[in-house]
Amino acid sequence: MSELKPVYIPKSKHPRIVIIGAGFAGIHLAKALKNKPFQIVLIDRNNFHQFQPLLYQVATSGLEPDAIVFPIRKIFRNYKNFVFRMTDVEKVNAEHKNIQTDIGIINYDYLVLATGSTNNFYGLKDVEYNSIGLKTIQESLDIRSDVLQNIEKANQSDKNEIRRLNTSIVIIGAGPAGVEMAGAFAEFKKFIYPKDYPELRDFPLQIHVVEAGNEVLSAMSKKSSTDSLKDLEKMQVKVHLGTAIKSFDGKTVVLSSGETIKSSNLIWTAGVKGQFPDGIENENIVQGNRIAVDEFNRVKGREYVFAIGDVASMQTEKYPKGHPMVAPTAIQQGQLLAKNLMRKQEDWKPFNYLDKGSLATIGKRKAVADFGKLHFRGKIAWFIWSTVHLISISGFKNKLRVGLNWMNNYFSYDKGNRLIIRKYKR
Ligand SMILES: Cc1cc2nc3c(=O)[nH]c(=O)nc-3n(C[C@H](O)[C@H](O)[C@H](O)COP(=O)(O)OP(=O)(O)OC[C@H]3O[C@@H](n4cnc5c(N)ncnc54)[C@H](O)[C@@H]3O)c2cc1C
Repeated sequence: MSELKPVYIPKSKHPRIVIIGAGFAGIHLAKALKNKPFQIVLIDRNNFHQFQPLLYQVATSGLEPDAIVFPIRKIFRNYKNFVFRMTDVEKVNAEHKNIQTDIGIINYDYLVLATGSTNNFYGLKDVEYNSIGLKTIQESLDIRSDVLQNIEKANQSDKNEIRRLNTSIVIIGAGPAGVEMAGAFAEFKKFIYPKDYPELRDFPLQIHVVEAGNEVLSAMSKKSSTDSLKDLEKMQVKVHLGTAIKSFDGKTVVLSSGETIKSSNLIWTAGVKGQFPDGIENENIVQGNRIAVDEFNRVKGREYVFAIGDVASMQTEKYPKGHPMVAPTAIQQGQLLAKNLMRKQEDWKPFNYLDKGSLATIGKRKAVADFGKLHFRGKIAWFIWSTVHLISISGFKNKLRVGLNWMNNYFSYDKGNRLIIRKYKR
């Protein structure tokens, strides 16, 4: 239960914009308000910004965690109008223009919810309890440690069933996160596993991807979908299309086809839903647990409350279910909101999403890229994918770290971060 005293925030003569969430949306909004006549109060439960598109590389030992997270305070070092508070926001009290956090109450003139999304297990409680999602750096470290600990368990046992159970990995969902994760594990299987675990030579890693739809990467072009499926199959990933997961007790994955897979490693990438604190009226919560907003990202019926990024659902003719939950939507909405807040209300511009194309990588030198009608595959697509990701990562040091890691992996196929950092599970 939070204390109801006010949180200390230095006084300012400017209106206060409280931004909840230092993801892509919140960070880009705050950056665009640098030294403008507003007091920016940025809040996050973590003291870092995370680059979610590369979480899978931490989970599969390709990158160290601090290559893809960046301290929030460092990003805003030279801002004169910036305050950061690390706390969890519990409730929005829009009637009183304040929010309740676990360290007290914070008042606002404008409130921006940029709280992103979380795993959606669609009510499958046993799956939620026994699997690991891929939404945070903590989860990607859990995946890395769990998978490696389970392989150690397999190596320590002389029982075939324990060896098989602990050397199977099942990934639920064949969107970009699932496909990229499967490709990275397939490279681990080919280039690392035989050298690190020679005693398990009769138990090669088994990698399964389970997808309820009829294709992988269904949000991309047909060509990308077919090409990436071929790549995955070539890399010995077993893809189960048109198949949903029904249950998982920690050892047996039961599929809608009736098939079962013995595995102690279940990774969930099959869906996300909006996340936000209490206090949002039910009539403003729409499909995918997102908050309905108008064309200026204003929460319906609330003049001073906005939602941007994954958590916001702006339904338009072109996007009847809201815009895609991707980084460019979050960045563009954050940047436009900053501009609008600096204009007179009658001059506000509505949001118009600029689709910059889609990319996914299946492994080294293997990727697919769609830019409108243009489709690329293989080395070219992989090069575009690497460049776009390097440019997008926050901070020069992080860019350098990721770039050097990739160069090393490019030539050596080594994944040097295969460390078990979490507590050992018996
Ligand atoms: C594995 C993975 C791969 C992805 N790959 C791509 C890709 O290749 N390309 C692409 O464009 N997009 C990709 N995405 C999607 C992209 O990362 C999201 O669309 C984007 O992060 C949304 O930004 P956001 O600012 O809305 O939310 P987020 O980036 O999720 O940030 C939300 C922030 O809010 C904070 N927060 C939430 N609730 C509270 C609270 N109550 N109190 C305090 N703080 C709170 C969280 O700690 C977090 O820092 C990927 C996502 C995942 C999970």
